[in-house]
Amino acid sequence: MLFVKAIINFNPYICVSLKVSITMFNIILFGPPGSGKGTQSEKLIEKYQLKHLSTGDLLRSEITSETPLGLEAKSFMDKGELVPDEVVIGMISSALDANTHVKGFLFDGFPRTAAQSEALDKLLKLKLTEISAVLALEVSEEELVKRLIHRGLTSGRSDDNSEAVIRARIGEYHKKTAMVADYYQNFDKVVLIKGEGTVEEIFSNLCNEIDKRLS
Ligand code: ADP
Repeated sequence: MLFVKAIINFNPYICVSLKVSITMFNIILFGPPGSGKGTQSEKLIEKYQLKHLSTGDLLRSEITSETPLGLEAKSFMDKGELVPDEVVIGMISSALDANTHVKGFLFDGFPRTAAQSEALDKLLKLKLTEISAVLALEVSEEELVKRLIHRGLTSGRSDDNSEAVIRARIGEYHKKTAMVADYYQNFDKVVLIKGEGTVEEIFSNLCNEIDKRLS
């Protein structure tokens, strides 16, 4: 143990690589379906130059390419259910491995279960980094349903087309995903952000919280 400590202290190469990883800035944009994660992610990754990892987008691209993973995922997504943990964790693990030289990651729609949260922590630890903050968007349920029905008119997403599927997704959120915030609350990483108001107001509140943690 002492020997390892000595190497870390005195080997300049190890010190440099540790420093690079630890200074990565990783955030989770958290919230129920329709809370504005996609919209705000686009603006945040541009401003802070983060790599956007949206499991919803990754899954939809697998569906479009008609891969076996996509076909399996579609059967769950069309019912408003979560895709099995091992599928999404595997997808995120590959995405982390494929993006080694980034300033940090913005996770959108992941983690969505307690098992995914623990898996993400382990994957980041292997990369000598961690989650810096969980920014949680809060929106009332009726506003969520209204937004998703409206989005369904233009999004082309099959899971936005039916109110029953929309309500099933919100149900899954309460049953399996809301507890992700409790998990990160144990590490004092959760910041609640009002998700109603103009896109610019919400963006500015998110940026204030990020800037506090960057300085
Ligand atoms: P929304 O936040 O509007 O539900 P997403 O694009 O994040 O949209 O997700 C769409 C669907 O993809 C989810 O309803 C779920 O079936 C699946 N999905 C996305 N991310 C995950 C995840 N981390 N774990 C399990 N299923 C997921």
